Amino acid sequence: MTNVPLPSYPFISKHDEEHKAACEERSRGLEIRLESKLQEMRAAEVTQRAHERSTEMLDRAARAKNAASKVEWLMKAIDIAVAPSKGLTACSKGCSHCCHISLDISEAEARVIHKATGRRLDAKAGIAGEEAERGISERQKRATGVACPFLSRVGTCTIYDVRPFNCRSHVNVDQDDLLCRLTTAEEDEKVARVPYLEMRHYKASYRSILGSEQRFADIRGWFPR
Ligand code: SF4
Repeated sequence: MTNVPLPSYPFISKHDEEHKAACEERSRGLEIRLESKLQEMRAAEVTQRAHERSTEMLDRAARAKNAASKVEWLMKAIDIAVAPSKGLTACSKGCSHCCHISLDISEAEARVIHKATGRRLDAKAGIAGEEAERGISERQKRATGVACPFLSRVGTCTIYDVRPFNCRSHVNVDQDDLLCRLTTAEEDEKVARVPYLEMRHYKASYRSILGSEQRFADIRGWFPR
């Protein structure tokens, strides 16, 4: 990894009225517009097949003998599950807004990344159970605007093949990145407004397959710069 500092995140001022108006305009009727896009996805034959295949992958993850294999099957499952949205999302190479917000990952994933990259892992960073839940908002606050340690200077992921489950499942189904852009309002509060692909089923499976003993930390905590 390079020691050259990454460019700082270009927060939009929370007082930027033009941006605020553009976001409000976009949000109006968003649900109706997205519903027709989702109908298009659901109508595709490939979606049903993807669901069946990703369910098979989840079963394999649940039966896998060790945490690294579970992670491997979970990654396959989520990649297959999001595949039908290809071409219908705002996400594209070089767009990195979501690499500047908090990203909790499991110890199992952190170890897979450590093995693949050789990057030093702070094994003490993880916390489990209710304590991990309680610390979420503090971790979100600390991470907002701070680049993920695996983000390159040109906005690409340097660990694409082993990137975490939450990166793979974080898909904005809007027409562009307008609603993903962080404003200075996010420094004080979390603003939930991006229309992400519905992935609750997969996120719940991820948690239950890895087990309740799994420890979690923000990726910046596992891999300090
Ligand atoms: S692991 Fe890759 S995709 Fe995920 S936040 Fe970091 S740079 Fe972005």
